[in-house]
Amino acid sequence: MSELRKDPIVDRWVIIAAERGQRPSDFKTKPEQPRSEGCPFCEGNEANTPPEIFAIRDSGPPNSPGWRVRVVANKFPALCIEGDLARSGIGQLDRMTGVGAHEVIIESPRHSDDLPSLSTEHVVEILATYAQRTCDLRRDDRFRHTIVFRNYKAEAGASLSHPHSQLIALPFIPKLVKEKLDSAREHYRRKERCIFCDLLEQELALAERVIYRNDHFVILSPFAARFPFSVEIYPLAHAHDFVEMDSAQQCALADALQYILQQYKITLSNPAYNMTLQTAPSTLPRAGHPDYWGTIAYDFHWHLEIFPRLTKMAGFEWGTGCYINPVSPEDAAEYLGKQSQPARNDQP
Ligand SMILES: [Zn+2]
Ligand SMILES: [Zn+2]
Repeated sequence: MSELRKDPIVDRWVIIAAERGQRPSDFKTKPEQPRSEGCPFCEGNEANTPPEIFAIRDSGPPNSPGWRVRVVANKFPALCIEGDLARSGIGQLDRMTGVGAHEVIIESPRHSDDLPSLSTEHVVEILATYAQRTCDLRRDDRFRHTIVFRNYKAEAGASLSHPHSQLIALPFIPKLVKEKLDSAREHYRRKERCIFCDLLEQELALAERVIYRNDHFVILSPFAARFPFSVEIYPLAHAHDFVEMDSAQQCALADALQYILQQYKITLSNPAYNMTLQTAPSTLPRAGHPDYWGTIAYDFHWHLEIFPRLTKMAGFEWGTGCYINPVSPEDAAEYLGKQSQPARNDQP
């Protein structure tokens, strides 16, 4: 089983997942798997993945062809779903058993499909799958936070080119997420307003960092973006939790997501990227902290973040946590917002 260890100086948990079985030679750069041959995520190869946890199907029993979206456990999980959560410590050093969930959301039965060119209805089904899995894992009181993410292309960490996202449920709240949650809660405590709603109001009025807007969502180029052409997608109406979207909002999010991914393809020559979903943590009561998440529904505002992998983290960034972004967020907004959007292929 993997182990969680906390850095005692900066208060950051790290997953030590040595039994994923990687040898030093596994860290050499490998070419991306370009073809569907032998791909375990392709329709017809269901026997080559762990058993299905969830699927949206046209036909057939579990673990057979006929699905449109399929969820399986990661074959090489960073964390293990079985086992009790045990905490221990030696002096200043904290550790926990590596309990968690690590799932793969296979977004299409077809290897050559790509998120921006899927039908909007299909993207809505993928988003609904994120919500279903998040809700299900929140019922497990060992887990404190669930993060959905998408790594696109090998440079962004994808080991298979078949379209997929992943989900990890953690027994702790990660440092970056916690910093956001704490900042939002503190703003609310002082002002009784959501810090993200305040920010959105200002950005929509200024418009210079607005890339795209539809009835329910806005895509922003963040004021202090760490990476060139990174974006954040926010619901226009205050909402703390991704899973509470209605169908109109899901359609609008699918539209916004497909817009920006298509723009990346056209204007930045299809870069690798990482996408992460920042939503409310599990609000199951914690022993000794019955009101810990008392204001979360008012103080936090969920959003998606997308980071194209156009620059490399170098010594300065690794050593300081401080970033150098060579493109102004205003120029990025203009560039990504002004290009015309081609017609999408709306076949189911
Ligand atoms: Zn495939
Ligand atoms: Zn808000």
